[in-house]
Amino acid sequence: MIVIKSQRELDKMRKAGELVALAHQRLHELIAPGITTLELDKAAEEIIRKAGGIPSFKGVPCAYGGMDFPGSICASINSVVIHGIPDKTVLNEGDIISIDIGAILDGFHGDAARTFGVGTISDEAKALIMHTEEAFNQGMAKAVEGNRIRDISEAVQKYVEGQGYSVVRDFVGHGIGTEMHEEPQIPNYVTRERGVRITNGMTLAIEPMVNVGTWRVKVLDDKWTVVTLDGKLSAHHENTLAVMPNGPEILTRLY
Ligand code: MG
Repeated sequence: MIVIKSQRELDKMRKAGELVALAHQRLHELIAPGITTLELDKAAEEIIRKAGGIPSFKGVPCAYGGMDFPGSICASINSVVIHGIPDKTVLNEGDIISIDIGAILDGFHGDAARTFGVGTISDEAKALIMHTEEAFNQGMAKAVEGNRIRDISEAVQKYVEGQGYSVVRDFVGHGIGTEMHEEPQIPNYVTRERGVRITNGMTLAIEPMVNVGTWRVKVLDDKWTVVTLDGKLSAHHENTLAVMPNGPEILTRLY
């Protein structure tokens, strides 16, 4: 079932979204050679809890039978696509790191991911990050009433593959609200499904995961960390947005 949000619920989602954006802004300031992903995790958790929120990811059960997720953020470096576990790993000059943050505030979730460079990064890495964000924008532009979910998928895939990259298939975007993952699923590539028709009041997390090489990924022994099969770079860009009569509105931003 797809939950259509009322104005009152959308206002709550704007607040949850802004908290996620605030945490992202802080981590962006902190990301530099020498900091550990665990330090980033602590900083994000502090911001979320100070505002009265709860980190959405902490304690999420593992789909592959591993431990519950221990972090408040996912910290995914270089060839790690998503779900990197914060630990004592130190960021190095030239790394890229995808940070995914979820927060629940007053009963509603916000969810957003960005990929940042650590110090000076290669032109290849810069281009990957830029095109991943643009892939998100291309998908978001299709999140308007009357379109279908497949229109979002198609726009993302077309853009990504047109730039010579590949898009991850094993993980998808999603509806979001009082649950972090609600219907509908939003693949970043075209499937046989047309997907449901989009209507105003839907809240969606669109999140292309873009690989330099193959789209194929594997899960490491910790049962969380998803890496590219060929060890090449991957980037992630995600926002929670609301489908509004005047077009899509990003909720995970600073108001
Ligand atoms: Mg998400």
